[in-house]
Amino acid sequence: MKAVVLRALGGPANLVLEELPDPKPARNEVLLRVRACGVCYHDVIARRGDLGPVPLPAVLGHEVVPSRPSRRVPHRARRRETRHRTSN
Ligand SMILES: [Zn+2]
Repeated sequence: MKAVVLRALGGPANLVLEELPDPKPARNEVLLRVRACGVCYHDVIARRGDLGPVPLPAVLGHEVVPSRPSRRVPHRARRRETRHRTSN
């Protein structure tokens, strides 16, 4: 996946577009294909380090617009959910 990665606290020049491995969702998570992601003031002050230490490298941004869900992972998640329901 493509991501804008923060490698060091500071100005916007520290944000670098990189190719990262696709994330592996945990059992209680869903993987979404992000069509767009906003950058809010929280991200700005995190980038500057004003929120305290930020584990680096970091991929900031939490206000996303998903496109259709990935076909692979939600299918697995659905199967897990079905198994969970039938075992109770
Ligand atoms: Zn926000």
